[in-house]
Amino acid sequence: MRAARGLDSGMLSDRPFRDLNSSQPSVHVAAGQGGYANIRAALNGFDLSAARGKKVLLKPNAGRMAAAGSGIVTGPEAVAAAADAFLEAGAEVAVGESPILGVRTMDAFEQCGIAAVARERKLTLIDLDARPFVPVPVPGGRAIGELRVCPEIMEYDFVISLPVMKMHMHTGVTLSVKNMKGCLWRRSKVDLHMLPPVEGSADKSLDIAIADMSGVLRPHLAVIDGYIGMEGLGPSAGTPRKLDAAVVSADPFAADAVACRLMGLSAREVPHLRIGAERGYGLIDLDRMSISPDNWMDYASPFERPPRDLALEFPGITILDRNSCSSCQSTLLLFLRRYGEKIFDYFPKELQPVIAIGKGHDEVPRGTLCLGNCTARHRSQGIFVPGCPPVASAIFKAIGGDADREDDEV
Ligand code: SF4
Repeated sequence: MRAARGLDSGMLSDRPFRDLNSSQPSVHVAAGQGGYANIRAALNGFDLSAARGKKVLLKPNAGRMAAAGSGIVTGPEAVAAAADAFLEAGAEVAVGESPILGVRTMDAFEQCGIAAVARERKLTLIDLDARPFVPVPVPGGRAIGELRVCPEIMEYDFVISLPVMKMHMHTGVTLSVKNMKGCLWRRSKVDLHMLPPVEGSADKSLDIAIADMSGVLRPHLAVIDGYIGMEGLGPSAGTPRKLDAAVVSADPFAADAVACRLMGLSAREVPHLRIGAERGYGLIDLDRMSISPDNWMDYASPFERPPRDLALEFPGITILDRNSCSSCQSTLLLFLRRYGEKIFDYFPKELQPVIAIGKGHDEVPRGTLCLGNCTARHRSQGIFVPGCPPVASAIFKAIGGDADREDDEV
């Protein structure tokens, strides 16, 4: 079995795709040319000849049921551009994803347009969850000691992280480093959300776990699609945001740091990037990298940040979120967006609606709407909606409504 470079020793010096004009860690930005041309232009700065005759796996962010242009998933034009660049370099190209709970990989590829891109180019589409996982130790991991990794990540010569530029309400942003979480097998992704606090650290265990993961699961190239990203309540309930930009680097931390700056924040504000950089997994200090073109900052346009408290977004509703994972968060936000007002019909006027998700609750107030199997032990306190994740229509039905099946997409 061949091991992807990111899984050998994590040595960043061993970068197969070198900058054509710089010996320094470098980042290329392109903007204003559209989703396809931005990626091609940013990739032009790199020598992809190492891919000739090799197997290249593109890992987009396509783990949710969402349309192209929603800002939730990597744009099909970005996938097409990266695929074309590697095909022209003589590589065999595949596209793979392990989605969030409740989503089927091939359905997600179909809905966002990546399946059509693959058909046109005869690319292999891979459900990364289909085969048994490979256990991968995490040396020095503070929150996790081992990962269950989808086998193709070990078998392909090169893995390319191809995320869309998004704000994220729990991790600050989700870019090329965090996108690799979609290489973790099936439900094992959820484990990172349910870890106990790490002794001696003020950082959230989820952020530490992502940094741990990035020590062993680093892509060979980061290609960030910022044509239409997401601001506000990312990763799935925010607002699409057109930046019309792309960022490429052989150092995913450097790519993410530049993307952060384009989005109007510092990578130091993103705990998993700060922690990973402090451990030497990559660079986030913009002064220590070569960024082209010189006027790249002209493309920056601040994204609205996620609200610190969901109560600001949904006034009058108390949301108790303890150690939930993205699937339940997506379901809840979808439910509130579609049926938020209806919830007040159900709860007595004198009671403020309280909703709980996640498995970290010691107790919940009487009358709480408990969503998802993780809250099952509190079912006697109010209404319990089973599922992992539950679906929005089931929640609505549980409080007396009537919803369509199509409302269940997460
Ligand atoms: S019930 Fe919700 S929070 Fe718990 S594992 Fe399932 S999707 Fe995640």
